[in-house]
Parts: sequence; C-alpha cells; structure tokens
Amino acid sequence: MTTENTARKGPRPELIAKKPERKKEPLKLAVIDQHGCTGCEACIVFCPVDCIEIVPGVEHAQFQQVVEVDIERCIGCALCAKHCPWDTIPMYSYTAGIKRAPELTIRSACNQKTEQDLLSTLKGSDPGGSDPTH
Ligand code: SF4
Ligand code: SF4
Repeated sequence: MTTENTARKGPRPELIAKKPERKKEPLKLAVIDQHGCTGCEACIVFCPVDCIEIVPGVEHAQFQQVVEVDIERCIGCALCAKHCPWDTIPMYSYTAGIKRAPELTIRSACNQKTEQDLLSTLKGSDPGGSDPTH
C-alpha cells in the first residue's frame, strides 16, 4: 500500500511525467525549502534519479529560479541534502515530508501544492487561483 501524496495539486507537466517511476515508497523524503534556495543547481547533479526540477523565475530565469523535488520520484537517498551549499534541503520521514512540502514550496514546476495554496485553503476562497507562477 502506498501513502497518498496529499501535496499533489494536479497532474505533472508532460515532460516530467515521462520520467521513470520509482519502484517503491522511500523511508525518507527530501523537500527543498525554497525560502533558502538560490537556484544554484548543485543538488541536481547528485540526484541519482533525476527528480529535482528547476522552477524558473517569472523574469530573468537564470537569476530567480529555485528547484523542487518531485515527491513521487524521490528515493530518499539524501545526497542532495548533503551537497546543498546553502543547507536548504531538509530530510523528513516520507509521510512528514508530504505534509511539510507545501509550506516550504513557493513555486512548483511539478504541479505540487505551494504555500499560496495552503493560504487559499485557510481563507476558504480562490483555490489555486493566484498561483504566482502563472
Ligand atoms: S534524496 Fe536523493 S533521490 Fe531524493 S531528491 Fe535528493 S538526491 Fe534525489
Ligand atoms: S543546492 Fe541548495 S541552493 Fe542550490 S539549487 Fe539545490 S536546494 Fe537550491
């Protein structure tokens, strides 16, 4: 039985959805705290399953990008967390990571929930209607 990913907002974009699936649910999950991410991409080269996606900025993408872990593909190896020069990749148990991920996500390329989605839910209005990435 797999844990429901409650951080998913909708289907992934086609190119991300085409990447190979994980074989089993991991014990741990990496979540990028985008509030501390500089978009340096150092973590991406260490990820053995290519599940860290670049989230472009609105303008001048090369300076304003952040990155995001695709929750359903991370195998919890922690290599990204070990190599992030800004120490902004906390590792959680898988279930705790799913709960925390929206709080730590400002923008999503994987169509996962963000802090804005949490705020909208709390206010009980405008669900997903003011996503800053659009
Ligand atoms: S924990 Fe491992 S699999 Fe998950 S994002 Fe980091 S490097 Fe990739
Ligand atoms: S290594 Fe750290 S700061 Fe650099 S892109 Fe990855 S999460 Fe962001």
